[in-house]
Amino acid sequence: MSKKIQAIRGMNDLLPDQSPLWQYFEGQVRTLMSRYGYDEIRTPIVEQTALFKRSIGEVTDIVEKEMYTFEDRNGDSLTLRPEGTASCVRAALEHGLLHNQTQRLWYQGPMFRHERPQKGRYRQFHQIGVESFGLEGPDIDAEMILLSARLWQQLGLSEHVTLELNSLGSAEARAAYRDTLVDYFESHYELLDEDSRRRLTSNPLRILDSKNPDMAPMLADAPRMIDHLDAESRDHFARLTAMLDAAGIGYVVNLRLVRGLDYYSRTVFEWTTTALGSQGTVCAGGRYDGLVEQLGGKPVPAVGFAMGIERLILLLDTLELVPDEARGELDVYLLPMGEATEPAALLLAERLREALPTLRLQLHCGGGSFKSRIKKADRSGARLALLLGEDELAENAVTLKFLREDREQRRLDQDALAETLTSLLAGETLA
Ligand code: ATP
Ligand code: MG
Repeated sequence: MSKKIQAIRGMNDLLPDQSPLWQYFEGQVRTLMSRYGYDEIRTPIVEQTALFKRSIGEVTDIVEKEMYTFEDRNGDSLTLRPEGTASCVRAALEHGLLHNQTQRLWYQGPMFRHERPQKGRYRQFHQIGVESFGLEGPDIDAEMILLSARLWQQLGLSEHVTLELNSLGSAEARAAYRDTLVDYFESHYELLDEDSRRRLTSNPLRILDSKNPDMAPMLADAPRMIDHLDAESRDHFARLTAMLDAAGIGYVVNLRLVRGLDYYSRTVFEWTTTALGSQGTVCAGGRYDGLVEQLGGKPVPAVGFAMGIERLILLLDTLELVPDEARGELDVYLLPMGEATEPAALLLAERLREALPTLRLQLHCGGGSFKSRIKKADRSGARLALLLGEDELAENAVTLKFLREDREQRRLDQDALAETLTSLLAGETLA
């Protein structure tokens, strides 16, 4: 035998036992988006490298060390998208979606980052992203937070996630703050680690984000952005928190929250959990009023966030919050009990699917002995088995067997079958 080829490290297959949970999650998101009036956008997973360099920032973890960049056959530098916002802005600009109009968009799909794979951190992972364009007030920031909060509520996660909030101010205020911060860091140069020294000139705000414990006391005393906000950003933040208060959404103001991408301004937020170890951020975003202009458009205010599907699925699993509907179990396994009844079973299966559009019925195919058929029925995970032998066929009947309950099997009339199954699956007992 030749050597088996394996998947790439950090890139996972989604196997059939997990896909019902993903579908459940994605279904919840899709419905939620349409309830809030957000439209889906789909963009290619590959873009010109320059798009990400210009939007995410040259001196960020993503651009410096995480991108999958390659030359295609024409010699162009292309990159597998590491996140969705840049592509979304690129597409919106390219198709004139931002010209004198507002947009509320969402997307979903795989993202690629060359990180060290571990629980909750992969090289191909999946995000749901939400973006709005053309709206500058804090009302849309609040709506986005409420939308995500509603998702947590629907999934049963509300008590397990915390909202962290900060403001990064306007570009000008941030530039002034940056100078103050650089002065401070320079006066503590001996305490900075190598990464931070490098960032000192390129991206000093990110030093605040450092997880190095040796730097923690020095960082705790650093000048705070919140004290250097411009008046408009301060007002924006106050109005946002007032709206969240009025809506009963709890939050923690985290003054060190700066986010890993350069394009953010004013509002930034993260939803975090303590149930997943160090991969605790399940959803993150903020305002990026400067990005559209940075990518060649006229200035358009924008806000958005992205959530990591793998981390949310892990969280649902860890907290045992997977509802029955997300387990993908069959209702009925229908067995012809010999070759002679196979055609009739095929037709009966179709009749039942016609009558009961939500019924999950699998037909036994592939023959086999009586024993192996029953074994397959058992393994199918279905609640009920319907047996169609030659006797049953002659009487226009089927035999109903309960696969998960200790109940007597019984004969049922085929003509009343749809009705009987409906009551059975609704949990009613039969007369
Ligand atoms: P982290 O600090 O955990 O690296 P990030 O700030 O790089 O996250 P964002 O770029 O804001 O993450 O992406 C939004 C969300 O996407 C994250 O909150 C997380 O849930 C998810 N995410 C990011 N990177 C990965 C990854 N490598 N594997 C799985 N999920 C990820
Ligand atoms: Mg990261």
